[in-house]
Formats: sequence, C-alpha cells, structure tokens
Amino acid sequence: MSTIIQYHNLGKKQNWIGGSYEESSAPKSITVISPYFDQAIAEVPDSNQADVNRAVEQAKAAFPAWASTHIRDRAAVMFKLKTIMEQDMEALAHLVALDNGKTIADARGSILRGIEVVEFAASLPNMLKGESSNVGHGINCTMTHEPLGVVAGITPFNFPIMVPLWMIPIAITSGNCFILKPSEQTPLAALKLAEYLQEAGLPNGVLNVINGSREAVESICDHPDIKAVAFVGSSRVAKIVYSRSAAQGKRALCLGGAKNHMIVVPDADQDSTAKGLLASSMGSAGQRCMAASVAVCVDDVDAIIDQLVEEARSFQLGLDMGTIVSKAALEKITGYIDAAEAMGAKVRVDGRNPNPPEAYPDGYWLGPTILDHVDPDWPCAREEIFGPVLSIIRTDTLESALRIENGNPYGNAAAVFTTSGQVAKTIAESASAGMIGINIGVPVPREPYSFGGWNESKYGHGDITGRSGVDFWTNLKKVTSRWPESSEAWKKYF
Ligand code: NAD
Repeated sequence: MSTIIQYHNLGKKQNWIGGSYEESSAPKSITVISPYFDQAIAEVPDSNQADVNRAVEQAKAAFPAWASTHIRDRAAVMFKLKTIMEQDMEALAHLVALDNGKTIADARGSILRGIEVVEFAASLPNMLKGESSNVGHGINCTMTHEPLGVVAGITPFNFPIMVPLWMIPIAITSGNCFILKPSEQTPLAALKLAEYLQEAGLPNGVLNVINGSREAVESICDHPDIKAVAFVGSSRVAKIVYSRSAAQGKRALCLGGAKNHMIVVPDADQDSTAKGLLASSMGSAGQRCMAASVAVCVDDVDAIIDQLVEEARSFQLGLDMGTIVSKAALEKITGYIDAAEAMGAKVRVDGRNPNPPEAYPDGYWLGPTILDHVDPDWPCAREEIFGPVLSIIRTDTLESALRIENGNPYGNAAAVFTTSGQVAKTIAESASAGMIGINIGVPVPREPYSFGGWNESKYGHGDITGRSGVDFWTNLKKVTSRWPESSEAWKKYF
C-alpha cells in the first residue's frame, strides 16, 4: 500500500447526467487544484441553471421505474457498491488525497466510514418493511415509507467521498432519484462514485452529479421539482440554503460549521487524554467539523498539556497530517494565529514556516499549532478556524468550563476527559451539543446511530444518517382499511 501521492492531471471532467458524462452549457469552468502540488489536476464546469434543469429531467424520468423497483433489488446495488469500493480502495484513496490534501491513511479511513453508510442502506429492506396493526374493531392501519421523488445534496470540500455517502445510499435505496452538487474544490471522488454506482447496476438517471458553485446551488434550491435538499458545509451557507429551499416549500436539512470544546479535568488519564486532544485537534489537519479546536482546562492539568505539546512538536507533515485545502484557507488560518499571538496568546507549538515533506515542496503546509492562555472571547476561541490550531483556555471550575462550552453558538460536538463518572455524567447531560465524547475526542456516532449537531451547527430537523436519514428522505403513508362483513353466503366457511 503506497503512501506516496503521484501528480496527474485528469483533464476536463463533465457533469454526470442520465448515466454518462454530458457537456455543460455553462460558459465558465473551475480549475481543480491539488493542495499537495499547487497545480491543476482537472477542470470542471461551473454549471448553470440549464444544467440543473437537465439533471432534474433525467432524474424525473428515472423515478417511476426506480421507485417501483423492489427494495431488495435497490439494496442489492448497495451490496455491489460496497464490493466495488473495497476493491478499488487504494485508487480511490489516492484520488481523495490528491484532490483534498489528506494523507492516504486519512483518505482510506474516510472511505471506510462512507462504506458504513452503504452497509446501513443495504439493510433498509429490514427497516422499511412498514408497520401494520388492527387499530379498532375490524379496522387495520398500515404505515409505509414512500420516496419523495427527485432530491438533492450539496457537499463540502473536506470529505469528498464520505459526506456524499452520508446522503446518496439512504436516499436512493429509499427509492428517490438524486442530484449531487459536490464541492468545486474537491469534485473528483463524487464523479468516481457515479461510475461505481453505474457498475453496481444503478439505472441511468437515478444519480446525477452537477459540478459548480453558487449558481448550481441556487438553481437546486429554486427548482420546483426537487422535493428535498440536504446540505453540509459552513453555517453561513447552510443558513442560506435552508432558507432558500424552505421558501420554495422544500424539505431541507442543512448541517453547518462547528467549534467543538474538549473539557479536561485533573483526574483525566494523562497519556490517553494528551493523545485524544492531539488526534481531535490535528487529525485531517483540523479540517473536519468534528475537530475539537478548544481545550478547556479545569485547574491544573499541566502534565497533560506538556505531553500534548511534546507530541505535537514531533508531528511529521505528510505522514501524521496532510495539507490545508487551498492557499486562501492557509492564509486565513495563519491570520488567526497571528492575531491570537498579537492579543497575548502563548504560542506553545508554532506551525507557521513548517518543513514541507521532500516530495511535496509546493504543498499548502501548516504544522500543528497550540495556543495557550487564550481568552474565551478572542476570535481563535469563538470562530471556526478549520485548521490544525488548538486554543487552550484555563479555568477553575467545571461550571465555568461548561459555561464557556455552552456560550458558543455552535453545537456539533463536545468532549470531556475524566476518570470520574460524575464529571462525565454532568458534561454529557449539560453540554449543548448533538454529539458528546467521554474520553473520546472525535465522537462520531457509528451507524446506525445518526450524525448531526445542534444550535448553529444545523438548520432543519433530524440528523443526516441512520434512522433519521430514512425519515428525511421519505414520506410516511398511512392506509386505514375496513372491509365489509362477509355476506351470508360466505359465513358458512368460517
Ligand atoms: P462551504 O459552505 O464553503 O461550501 C459547501 C458547499 O456550498 C459547496 O458545495 C459550495 O459550492 C457551496 N457554496 C459555497 N458558497 C455558496 C453560496 N454563497 N451560495 C450557495 N452555495 C455555496 O463549506 P466548505 O468550505 O466546502 O466546507 C467546510 C465547512 O463545512 C466547515 O464549516 C465545516 O465545519 C463544515 N462541515 C460540516 C459538517 C457537519 O456535519 N456539520 C461536515 C463537514 C463539513
């Protein structure tokens, strides 16, 4: 298994509509840059409304036959998809890494997490069997999940295969036809997914991939024949997509950004806590919505922080951590570090001016950065930085630590490191976040438990995966029936 990322340019990639690549009518295109090489690796269309209309036409045409395909046959496509993805794992991991800047190991991990949702979708025949009971004398009620029709998903740059897989398997196995608008920064894995699904036997038109940016997203929100929109990205755009889709009467679930806190108390286990803080804040170079970017340290936990600092200093770029996604993001993150330093933060580990790995001298590198004695009101403590930067806030009591955590407008995740059941219980019960970790820094619930935050980390109701995902992509139909009493002639048979 190679860990080396080779440069190659895939050239012009088009939209995937109705089961094949189709040229866009849009005059503009987007250059896809590899953050490892600072060089173009592909060109995709910056699609317009006409492209979205074409995709909707194809999805609408495919819907009646797909919705009436038996659910076991729809689920069979998921079984095949899982096999194909596992067989092509190394090539796919390479593509994700080249496009996004992850290490190969991180890319592989993200694919495996996406496959878990494929497995969940493969099990939907068990979950979507419906319910039925006698609700009154001679009266029966059945309840079934029915697909909505044409639905859409809009995804961010940071997990180019996993986040589309949070949506597509559950939506299409439930009988919908899907339009995906992947991030224009990392669109290549989503196109590969469309090819895999075709190989797995998915009929043409059931999945369509439209490349592009704002116009494509707005056309999706406005299109009257798209019944539901799921979005994952920053809170700013999540709110726009949610409001615009809801204004058209669509169902919308929009997951946004995060500022996750880890509360550390003196009785925490030193080694596993230091490692947990490091993995959570620096994994994926801090570019994940589950990264905990603030450590709220209660009383004296210096031994833990010292170990964390020492381990962060020994991080090897390209091995322990990939690149930042773009030059612009790198500048933005560095700006937060500069500002915090100017405000008085102690820079315990400084990722600025890092040593790039020999093979990728032009990559967008930033080393792990740890800022100590940060004030809870500073921008580095309040805003989503989305990079490998951990802010340490010192406080005296668990109560004030909770106040800091709950004072943040986001609510994706929170974690506590302790050996005390009482402390763990207090945080789990009182933290205002959708996903809580106890001695776990990245508390992503595994399938079938659903993924989703609270507060400004989500607009809309429910979660994106698990049972909640099924509820989002389907309507409930209730049939209440009463049959006339048997006629006199038939009564003799009873
Ligand atoms: P982003 O919001 O910039 O982009 C997400 C999508 O929105 C992209 O497809 C993009 O083309 C589109 N978009 C961007 N600006 C738009 C506009 N003005 N109008 C319409 N569409 C627009 O997010 P990103 O930088 O790609 O991803 C990082 C963000 O995603 C972070 O905030 C991170 O926390 C969040 N994220 C959240 C979760 C979660 O589960 N809550 C998961 C992954 C990432």
